[in-house]
This record gives sequence, structure tokens and C-alpha cells, in this order.
Amino acid sequence: MTTVRHGDTAIEVITADITTLKVDAVVNAANQQLKGGGGVDGAIHRAAGKARLQEACRAIGGCPTGEARITDGFDLPARHIVHAVGPRWKDGTKDEDDLLAGAYRHSFALAAEHAVRSIAFPAISTGIYGFPKDRAATIAVSQCLAAADSGKFERIVLCCFSSEDAEIHASALTREATS
Ligand code: ADP
Repeated sequence: MTTVRHGDTAIEVITADITTLKVDAVVNAANQQLKGGGGVDGAIHRAAGKARLQEACRAIGGCPTGEARITDGFDLPARHIVHAVGPRWKDGTKDEDDLLAGAYRHSFALAAEHAVRSIAFPAISTGIYGFPKDRAATIAVSQCLAAADSGKFERIVLCCFSSEDAEIHASALTREATS
């Protein structure tokens, strides 16, 4: 685990299954339909309880790429799930960077509105959506540092699913935090 303190906020990089984390909110790498799919989305839907989470997502309707929506956490240890829709990677000229930054920014804004003090993110868009991992980690870390500057969060967790991903995020974090 790597932890960087930025103002009053601890930013951590860990390797874990995000569905097990005891934080106020976990972020889901959702799709525009908020339907539940593979990867972390499927894991969150299974652990939260498929029927109730699907019903809550259906009531919301959907979410544009680069934005986020919030539901209850149901059977998760987390109180809330923030459903963030990252972009599919195409070639880097289709606004992918801004859309990914938007997914993080909207997630933090929505979380703050719901008095969330601790929040965990998966590496949005870097699985099935194919975003280059280094580039995505730099964007994720920049948004975490900006959110820490707001003073609204005690703990921000970048929850990686492999030690290789954790190394990529940890080096982005130490690099960006000291630059
Ligand atoms: P996307 O469609 O946004 O690319 P994916 O779910 O395919 O979303 O992948 C996003 C990231 O989530 C990947 O790094 C993947 O390894 C990771 N991941 C998959 N399952 C979990 C889990 N249970 N906890 C944390 N991260 C996970």
C-alpha cells in the first residue's frame, strides 16, 4: 500500500476487491445504461444484491459518459455506490482524457453532496474499455489531488485489482503529488 497525505486527505493505492471495502462510497465503472455488465460492474452488482441495485439503476434511467449517478450500497459494506461512466478508448482524439477526468470529477462532486468522507475508485475505463493504464492513472491521480484540495474528503482510495496496476497508480501518485 502507498499512502500520500495531501492537506487533510490521505490518498491510498491498494490492491483489493473493491466490494469488500468499508468506505462511505465505492465507485463503480458503469456503462451508460447503468445495466450491470462484466468486470468490476458485475462484481459490485453481485455483492450489492442484483435485484435491488438493478431496480435502483432502472429508476435513474442512465448516465452519459463522463458523468456519474449515485445509489444506495445495499448489501455492500459501503453506504453508497457512485456509478461513473468512463469512456471507451478509441485513439486518444475522441475526448477520452476529458471524459475520464469528468467521470472522476462528477463522482467526487456527487459524493461530497452526500457527505461522503471516504471513497474508493476502481481503475475506471482500463479494463474492458481499453484506456491505456499509465495515462488513466495520471488522470485519476490528478483528480484525486484536486478533490483533496477541496478539503471535503478524509480518505481517497485507488483500489487496484492487481499488484501491477497498483504499481502504476502508486508511481503516478508519488510523481504527481510531488510535482
Ligand atoms: P471498464 O469497462 O470501465 O474498463 P472494467 O470493470 O472492465 O471497467 O475494469 C476496470 C478496472 O476494474 C480494471 O482495472 C479491472 O481489473 C478492475 N476490477 C475488476 N474487478 C474488480 C474488483 N472486484 N475490485 C476492484 N477492481 C476490479
